[in-house]
Amino acid sequence: MNTDFLPLKELPGVVSRVVSETEAMDIHTHLYDPAFGDLLLWGLDDLLVYHYLVAEAFRYFDFPHDEFFSLSKSQQAERIWDALFVRNSPISEACRGVLTTLNALGLDPRKQDLASLRNWFAGQDPRDYVGRCMELAKVKSICMTNSPFDDLERPVWEKGFERDPRFTAALSIDPLLREWESCWKQLSDWGYIDSADLNEATFSGIRRFLSDWTEKMDARFLMVSLPPTFRYPDESVCVRIIREAILPHCREAGLPFALMPGVKRGVNPLLRMAGDGLAKCDMESFERLFAEFPQNKFLLTALSSENQHELCVAARKFNNLHVFGCWWFTNIPSIIEEMSRMRLELIGMSVTLQHSDARVMDQVIYKWGHSRRVIAKVLTEKYEDLNRAGWGVTEEEIRRDAGQLMGGAYEAFCAK
Ligand SMILES: [Zn+2]
Repeated sequence: MNTDFLPLKELPGVVSRVVSETEAMDIHTHLYDPAFGDLLLWGLDDLLVYHYLVAEAFRYFDFPHDEFFSLSKSQQAERIWDALFVRNSPISEACRGVLTTLNALGLDPRKQDLASLRNWFAGQDPRDYVGRCMELAKVKSICMTNSPFDDLERPVWEKGFERDPRFTAALSIDPLLREWESCWKQLSDWGYIDSADLNEATFSGIRRFLSDWTEKMDARFLMVSLPPTFRYPDESVCVRIIREAILPHCREAGLPFALMPGVKRGVNPLLRMAGDGLAKCDMESFERLFAEFPQNKFLLTALSSENQHELCVAARKFNNLHVFGCWWFTNIPSIIEEMSRMRLELIGMSVTLQHSDARVMDQVIYKWGHSRRVIAKVLTEKYEDLNRAGWGVTEEEIRRDAGQLMGGAYEAFCAK
């Protein structure tokens, strides 16, 4: 073990090597254990029809939305490729991501056309390919987003399957909190509750439902994405279910509740899945929640960049809060850099700097590759500042810190 303090001039090289070698835990994705078959998306066409790129391509398309969505997946991919890569330079983060991914896989889209690239992907075996992507991304575990309300996903859980140990589960309960009017009927069909009335029997039925699914999935945490209008306290259905069912269940199971506030669903319904927007959430509501339930653990990532500073300050006040990731619209280098720097400066190492939010397997390659570069840049700057303050660091310490920021701090928080 090398315990020498690194000289100032060696810091950039060592930090970027260590950050690029550190295996990350990817704690929020929309990927699936390969046992889910076609639910696990991967390959060129899925990379190109990613909803981030669909939204961007419509900046240039001159035909109606419905016309695009009536095309097959490969035709949609061709239209997007033409608009975003051929007719314009692919500078946006989501476009660059496709190129970083192809490049890491040894493919050259400047020399190969879509047909020959597709051929290459068609020759891959999905199970081996998952391993290759994780290896290139240096990701050791992937947390899925799993919903018992999803009609494609539920039967797989109910039937049972041999788990791939690299994939962990998170129990996602959006319909329970956001669509009670229709959701209660399902819970009633499944025999958990008798009516939509929010009384003691209903809350205990919901808790039984949560505990059955937590067990079935071996869920690591419960999670929900919330609109910017979420307020606490409140007598809304959403808040009452959180207070009387979700939080008691999480306490009993010893699991964190992950909150993802800021999504405005269907800002432009014509864009379908690509039509969601964002707004600043009310962080004071979350502070009241953390204060009122000190026995509960909360994970939180906010969608609006305007919430990030107050979120870091909240994390200084509440050690039952763990801040994680640069989510969705904040997952661009300029904002990742700002957020990472702010987090390190305000809450040090007790944070998970990034998650991929990948929806297509191959995306872990670029999402982690791009983030690691930014993280290394910010960390280098911080170690240089320490060095100037007379605090030398060793490569061992940098390795410890990088591990902490890419999963270790999350694990310690969950184990608390
Ligand atoms: Zn997500």
